[in-house]
Amino acid sequence: MARSEAVIDLGALRHNVALLAGMAPRAATMAIVKADAYGHGAVPVAKAALEAGATWLGACSAAEAIKLREAGINAPVLAWLSTPDEDIAAAIAADVDVSVSSLNELRVIEEAAALTDSRPRLHLKIDTGLSRNGCQPKDWPALVEAAKRHDVVAVWSHLACADEIGHPSIDLQAKRFDDAYHVAIEQGLKPMRHIANSAALITRPDLHFDLVRPGIAIYGLNPVPTDIDLRPVMTFRSQVALTKRIPAGESVSYGMTWTAPNDTTLALVPAGYADGVPRALSGRMEVLLGGKRRPVVGRVCMDQIVVDCGDDEIREGAEVILFGPGTKGEPTAREWADLTGTIDYEIVTGMYRPRVRRTYT
Ligand SMILES: *Cc1c(COP(=O)(O)O)cnc(C)c1O
Repeated sequence: MARSEAVIDLGALRHNVALLAGMAPRAATMAIVKADAYGHGAVPVAKAALEAGATWLGACSAAEAIKLREAGINAPVLAWLSTPDEDIAAAIAADVDVSVSSLNELRVIEEAAALTDSRPRLHLKIDTGLSRNGCQPKDWPALVEAAKRHDVVAVWSHLACADEIGHPSIDLQAKRFDDAYHVAIEQGLKPMRHIANSAALITRPDLHFDLVRPGIAIYGLNPVPTDIDLRPVMTFRSQVALTKRIPAGESVSYGMTWTAPNDTTLALVPAGYADGVPRALSGRMEVLLGGKRRPVVGRVCMDQIVVDCGDDEIREGAEVILFGPGTKGEPTAREWADLTGTIDYEIVTGMYRPRVRRTYT
């Protein structure tokens, strides 16, 4: 066992991908593997997702997409956010589909493609209200006009509030998306359409169109309060490095924020904020150790935390589960997120750290 370890359950991942693909039976499924698959490891996750029924992959940068190609993955891959100095030519040469939000971006792609033998495959992105990338509706007809001499694979967009069921912006974005699609049709294109992230996949079958783009849900974390059988893929665990008895009245960790009310046994765990345990969890977190949830006492340090084990006998080397699916009583990534004022996306993605070994089951 490693000092600290993110254990990735690829069986759970395959289960989630198959479940989600089954919920969108008329659409293809693009498994989103950006940010090293939300901290789960892009290449193993991509391969498992393709085995389970995904037929596309989504990456953020050109470099992330190229990494998938270098691992021998041939499925269609979309990369949607690169800076002009990135190696777009390498992405196009590697048969990576690229997103286009503006005439400028189209020019950069055309110049990059000219350095290769490949035709660029374009997904034209319309900004329907998120105001990140994507083309504003007023500039859209000109972009479509300029792009149509190329291979336009899709018209696509991204939702701002899909996780707030019934939010009025969803229908507004859907309407703008439809308008943009029709401009493309009127200019003689026959593109695919895609707009649905996990939340829209789960709650808005009318927005599945030709392709759905689930990210967080394939990792078993449900962004909407609906009861579907998603299984969390990541377990974060460590082990007990040292145990000791301290007498009542002794304090624990920097700032001495916790003082033992009675004689007690402490277990030292070599995982701290450098390993992905938020310092903001100081005084508020628990771990599963020896079959029981126990409080972490005192402050979370850079390299370690201290667990109060009372009078229980704890073995050095015993497994400590920091978060996991919750099925054995351990905390979940959602619990950490709720306690620290963030979302579970950030918790699991934050586990992409050199100190934390990743293992696959
Ligand atoms: C991250 C992302 C997704 C996946 O979103 P989830 O909420 O994780 O399902 C889909 N499409 C784009 C463009 C994204 O950036």
